Formats: sequence, structure tokens, C-alpha cells
Amino acid sequence: MTVKVRFAPSPTGRIHAGNVRAALVNWLFAQKHQGIFVLRIDDTDLERSTRENEDLIETDLKWLGLEWDERYNQSKRFDIYQKCAEALKADGRLYACYETADELDRRRKVQLSRGLPPIYDRAALSLTAEEIAAFEAEGRKPHWRFKLEGKRVAWEDLVRGHCEVDTTSMSDPVLIREDGAFLYTLPSVVDDIDMKISHVIRGEDHVANTGTQLEIFEALSAFFGGSPLPVFAHMPLLVGADGEGLSKRLGSMSISQMRDDGLEPLAITSHLAKIGTSDALEAAPSLLALVEGQDFDKMGRAPARYDFADLMRLNAQVLQGLSYADVKTRLEDFGADLGELFWDTVKPNLHRFAEVVLWVKIVEGDIEPIISDPALIARALELLPADYGRDSWSVWTSAIKETTGAKGRALFMPLRLALTGQEHGPDMGALSFLIGRYKIAQRLQG
Ligand code: GLU
Repeated sequence: MTVKVRFAPSPTGRIHAGNVRAALVNWLFAQKHQGIFVLRIDDTDLERSTRENEDLIETDLKWLGLEWDERYNQSKRFDIYQKCAEALKADGRLYACYETADELDRRRKVQLSRGLPPIYDRAALSLTAEEIAAFEAEGRKPHWRFKLEGKRVAWEDLVRGHCEVDTTSMSDPVLIREDGAFLYTLPSVVDDIDMKISHVIRGEDHVANTGTQLEIFEALSAFFGGSPLPVFAHMPLLVGADGEGLSKRLGSMSISQMRDDGLEPLAITSHLAKIGTSDALEAAPSLLALVEGQDFDKMGRAPARYDFADLMRLNAQVLQGLSYADVKTRLEDFGADLGELFWDTVKPNLHRFAEVVLWVKIVEGDIEPIISDPALIARALELLPADYGRDSWSVWTSAIKETTGAKGRALFMPLRLALTGQEHGPDMGALSFLIGRYKIAQRLQG
């Protein structure tokens, strides 16, 4: 069997962490099984879908490294949905309904007041030809519902194990609106069959849909000549660090915002591949390195904790793993290419790439030195080696220690503050060498 999976975003907005996790896990699964990764733009909602959002989704996926093998737009596939709808109508599985939204709402309220579940009562199935003609004469257009069999629909889920959904407790879903527009449910099934999708990997918010959609799969099977059902994997949803649903800020944080915020794509993908699994939360050396570890058996049933602090930790790890050759062009773009020693010296201190500019300023520019111990700094100036080389720091600080008696923090902090204006930072041996004797002397003088 060829593995073929799909990521099916609706281009009604930007993609965020939750969508990207679905995209990533599908992509990893495809790579692991030498399969095909399909990007399917779910743009049946013509009013809310935009070309701009579609382009932005592609930009975000490419930036993350999640390239697709095939690409489709549902808006270009209405013919096949129409044919399938006709087949379902012919089989009596798709039926016309004429209720208005207000009428349905009133009926639901009555059901609830009587303690009944608010399920559609299938009144449309008993309309007479005269009643239908009267509605049509009024100018009403029908919407179309799929007639559920009302049964326990079961499947073996790669994450959740044995699953059952009882469609008796569900309203017959509307598949086609009054204006003829297809809602998500039918096109998704038609495409999954027609494109020979082998595995449907998505969030667990779709579990109930799967019950309905499996009935539609079965109902359309004959139309497609007895196609096999896909295997399903429903991933637990993401929750914020506090265990609550993703906070507004994180949940709505788009990938482009994360990019503007200086997050590395590999930090985002490493984080999303590992959260909610039994694997340690570590940055992977590359996106491909995540492929081998992809395994639904490692995915728990509990919600995955999406903690921004973890993501930032992985971001720092990714930066540390980048060699000078990896970042040379980016450093140039930031006007921050001060050579390999500079990069190797400052990278352990970066949480975000853009912070590199602070260290460029410290090495090359003007800073406000902080003279916290004037006596010690005055001695340091006297003892400053005439030639300041790569090893001068230890020679120099030993001499200061000997003459002043200062050691440890009392020795190093005043020097760090004077030379960098910062309390924390990279190894002073390399950094002071990069700053150079001229600027060191200048800064020691305040
Ligand atoms: N467009 C749907 C969504 O974004 C696709 C769900 C699915 O994978 O079937 O939720």
C-alpha cells in the first residue's frame, strides 16, 4: 500500500501551532513511509477563503520545510462533489430540507424544553409533493442532509485505539447549503477516496466527524468501485502551559508572527513533533532527523502541553547547533558578520537570532561602560597587556587578582560590566579579544 496523507487547511486565516502540528505529523509520516504528502486547500467556503491566505499558508509551510508532493484546491473540484451528491440522492441518502434557520432553532428549543436531545427530527422526509411545491413556489431553496444510518461506527485509531461513535445521537448533517455550496464534510470524504488517501491524520476535534464521515465513505464506496477506508489517527489537542485550552495569545499566534519574533523553523518543528509524546523535548539537528522518531505509539491520549518557555529553550538549542557556515548569509543580512570566532563566542547567549546585534554593538560600536568598582578598574587599566591577544584575558585577570586580591565574582563582574555594559554574556576570554585593546582601554576609562 502506498502511504498518502494530506494536510487540509481552510484558507480562512493564517495557520497557527495547532494546524502546523497536523501538517508536520502528516509530513513526517509520509517521509517515514516513503509516501506522498498532499496539500489540499479546503476552500469550499468561497466567501471566507482568500487567495492571499492560501499564499501565506504556502509561505509558512515552505519556511518550515514542509514541502508537498501534490497540491489541490477543493474549489476546482466541484464537478466531482456534484456527481457524488447526485449518487447519494439517487440512493436516498441525501435528502432535501426546506426549514429556515429560525424554524430549526424554534424546534430545537422545544425539544430541549421537553428534555429531548436537540436532534433534527427528519420532518423533511415526510413532506408531501404539494408541500414541497408550496415551498418552492415561495422561493425557498432546499439544503441537503445526509441520512445517517444511526449505528455505532467503529474504527481502530492509531492514537486512540478502538473508537466508536454512535451516530444515532447525531443530527443528519447538512452537506449542501441552500445556495448550493458544499460544506466541509462531503468534499473531504470525496477527496480522501478519490485521491486514495491511506491515512487521515488530524486533531481529535474531528472524532465526531469521523463517525459521520465513515458513514459517507461507506455510502460512496460503490460509486468509487469499492475503495478501501483510510486509517485514522486523531491527535490530542494542544493546551497551554497552565493545562487550559491554548491561551488566546498562543492559540492565535500565527507562524508568520513566530517568524517575525525570531523563532527558528527547526525549533517550532522540533517542539511540535515532540510535545505530547514520550520523547524528550530536544531540538533535532535537522527536520529530517525527526522522521525516524515519528511514531503514533509514542503519542499519549492526554492533551499536549504547548509551553512557550519550552519553545524558547529549543530555539536557543537550535541556534547553538548552527555553524558559522550555516548562518553566514543571515549574519550578513543583519550587518553582523564579524567572523567565525564572533559567531561561536556569542551563540551560546542567544535566545533569538536577532539578539546578535547587541553583541555586534559591544564588539564594534559604542556602549555605556558601567564602572562598578573604580579602584579595581583603575588597576586593570594599568595592568592591561600592551598587546592584547587571544590568551591575554587569563594573563591579565591573574595579574589583577594578584595586585588587588579580588577574585571570583568581585574580580570578573566589574570587568564584564566595564567592557560590555552587561551583567551576563559570552566567555570573556574570546569576547575581550574581539573587542580589542583600544576599546578595552577606552571603556576602562569610563
Ligand atoms: N479543513 C479542515 C480543518 O482545517 C480539515 C480537517 C481534516 O483534516 O479533515 O479542520
